[in-house]
Amino acid sequence: MEDETPTPNITLTTMKAPTQCTLWSRKNLTPLDLNLELVKVYTRTSHIERDLLKCRECGQLYFHDWYEHVNFNHDAAMYDTYIPVETEAEIETLSNIEKSADLADYVPQLHGSFTNDRNDDLKWVTEKYA
Ligand SMILES: [Zn+2]
Repeated sequence: MEDETPTPNITLTTMKAPTQCTLWSRKNLTPLDLNLELVKVYTRTSHIERDLLKCRECGQLYFHDWYEHVNFNHDAAMYDTYIPVETEAEIETLSNIEKSADLADYVPQLHGSFTNDRNDDLKWVTEKYA
């Protein structure tokens, strides 16, 4: 048999960059810097939060996903993702994605990871991360 290396499934979906939003150009963002208001809640559990947020300054909509990966040997890791959205179709697509990790296919996105003793800044991701 031929040795066939599987092709990695790279299907990036590019969203419109929110260049008008102050969040787009700010450096060293933390979750506390985000001046966003809640528009709609999709999921609220102790380990997953999903909602639609709106920038109080420019009205840009962000699909937001927060989840906690519980690991009993280490500190819990928390992942925070904000994906700029424009249309109802985009919002519906994202809200129907089951696994939070699959949201990594949508760029650009504002992403950060956190543990109890370590906080990374939120950073704009423009390519798929591993
Ligand atoms: Zn804004």
